[in-house]
Amino acid sequence: MKVISDSNQIPLVERSLKTVWHPCTQMKHHESLPLIAITKGKGPWLFDEKGNALLDCISSWWTNLFGHSNPRINQAINNQLEKIEHVMLAGFTHPPVVELSERLAALTKGHLGHVFYASDGASAVEIALKMSHHFWRLNNKPEKKKFVCLENGYHGETLGALAVTDVAIFREAYGSLLQDVLTAPSPDARKAQAGESPEDIAKRAADALEKIFEAEHQNIAAIIIEPLVQCAGQMAMYSPEYLRLVRSLCDRFDIHLIADEIAVGCGRTGKFFSCEHAGIWPDFLTLSKGISGGYLPLSLSMTTDKIYRAFYGDKTQQGFLHSHSYTGNPLACAAALACLDIFESETVLEKNIERSKNLATEFAWAKADSRIEHWRQQGMILAFDIKLKSLERPNTFPREMFSANLREGMLIRPIGNTIYVMPPYILSADETAQMGASVKRALDQVLA
Ligand SMILES: *Cc1c(COP(=O)(O)O)cnc(C)c1O
Repeated sequence: MKVISDSNQIPLVERSLKTVWHPCTQMKHHESLPLIAITKGKGPWLFDEKGNALLDCISSWWTNLFGHSNPRINQAINNQLEKIEHVMLAGFTHPPVVELSERLAALTKGHLGHVFYASDGASAVEIALKMSHHFWRLNNKPEKKKFVCLENGYHGETLGALAVTDVAIFREAYGSLLQDVLTAPSPDARKAQAGESPEDIAKRAADALEKIFEAEHQNIAAIIIEPLVQCAGQMAMYSPEYLRLVRSLCDRFDIHLIADEIAVGCGRTGKFFSCEHAGIWPDFLTLSKGISGGYLPLSLSMTTDKIYRAFYGDKTQQGFLHSHSYTGNPLACAAALACLDIFESETVLEKNIERSKNLATEFAWAKADSRIEHWRQQGMILAFDIKLKSLERPNTFPREMFSANLREGMLIRPIGNTIYVMPPYILSADETAQMGASVKRALDQVLA
């Protein structure tokens, strides 16, 4: 296994630390935790300047589906680059955005036939929230302006998206800037008491949601959820039954359902859309991260004909007046189309069934490990928790585990006491085995 050494990278890394303010990072931690300069990627592997290799077990923050420097996606972007790199989408359109919208609409079987674009995931969430409230205003219900979100949910870090996020570390400093929301219990299957099934937890969480809807439905525009897996919330997984129950409550109380599939969409949980596991469609569905294969910033919010029509009229103000400079960027759309081509021509969803079985096999050791609890998997996400009593230093565990994995040549970033893998859909059986064994060795070192 190759060891990551930073000695030859000092110049680049030092320059970075001087001028680049890195995301989601206490910069001082880099006094002891080396920053890693990546100069190349190929397939699931990342390479530093000296050629040390790292297996990208978390798809570069859940974005990369088909590996780095994928020939088909590279080619698609290159082809598009020769035609038009960007043009504004107000008053103009272009082939990649039209084709992408048509294909995504078809994937929802026409249920969500209108696609609004942005660049990052948080913006797609902002769009869904704004559109939902605007819809109710246009329907003479301007008082419907509250949002319901789930305990432990994550929807991004701009102020609107952060308001419906319930992950303390992201909210702490900004609480006073955020609008009030209603928070419903998470259907997290880890909450099961003796004899309870995931469906029982789903039912219990939906009962609590029903009470909130009963009391407040006149003021509620929408509920926003992450279908099946609350990813940033320590990969909390839950029964699809919850989605069915929420769908029917939303119908009963005239409340929009926003399915944030930014992390769980694009095949991650086993279906192209996570909602398909429950056989329901939301009123809004957001995608980002994997949609461009991890190549370029692209996000979108899809919605129904009913909602689209409410905005259609003679008055400018009746329209949805929201825009981002790079809305529907042609290069990003071309990358997304190449990904959809790969899904089709390489029967990715079918092959992922086998790949997720491999994941389970290579991490079977963790199921039997007495230091570990809540082993869980949904498609191409596998996670487990280190029992808190097994952790001497819970606060520094994520960084220690990250470093131990680096020494093993693995890119793994625990969330609190949760270790997870979320690899690109191209890992070979050997690479999967290597990943399982390396994570075990790293854990043994950290807990020794
Ligand atoms: C990552 C994520 C977002 C935010 O996307 P950004 O591109 O980071 O703004 C929103 N919702 C979910 C579920 C996510 O995982």
